[in-house]
Amino acid sequence: MVKEILTFPNPILYKRSREIKEVNGKLVKLVDDMLETMYKAPGIGLAAPQIGENIRLIVFDLSPRESKEKRPQYLINPVITASEGIVVEEEGCLSVPNVREKVKRYAHVEVKGLDLDGKEKIWEAQGLLAVVFQHEIDHLNGVLFIDRLGPVKRRRIKKKLLRLT
Ligand code: ZN
Repeated sequence: MVKEILTFPNPILYKRSREIKEVNGKLVKLVDDMLETMYKAPGIGLAAPQIGENIRLIVFDLSPRESKEKRPQYLINPVITASEGIVVEEEGCLSVPNVREKVKRYAHVEVKGLDLDGKEKIWEAQGLLAVVFQHEIDHLNGVLFIDRLGPVKRRRIKKKLLRLT
């Protein structure tokens, strides 16, 4: 089911999400709903708080938009366990419509989390996937990409967004 995507300045987006203790049917359904919502938007990543659930769950799919073959991915309780290098790439966010800005991130990250069987999964990511992991894990910590910009730019963007809401 496609869910409503919350947008700035909704306070749910600014809360730290809690760890998932139990994998159950409800969680499986939520992964499905999040993927459906992400594809519909369309976007390449989505974090649970963006649809109003303050739990540590992300979904993503980096396969090209025009490709018919989808590669849906998800990770429960993702944690960055190693990082290296710096990259500056333009980012956008479904919760911050019509804003794209360059953000400084790690170029390589190792991310650990769980799958729906409760098994540990380890991702070695670079390029766009590394950026997506950091962006989505930020969401779980109540941080939006615009919060990573310099103070002047951040204030200008927030003002503009508030005028539009
Ligand atoms: Zn986002």
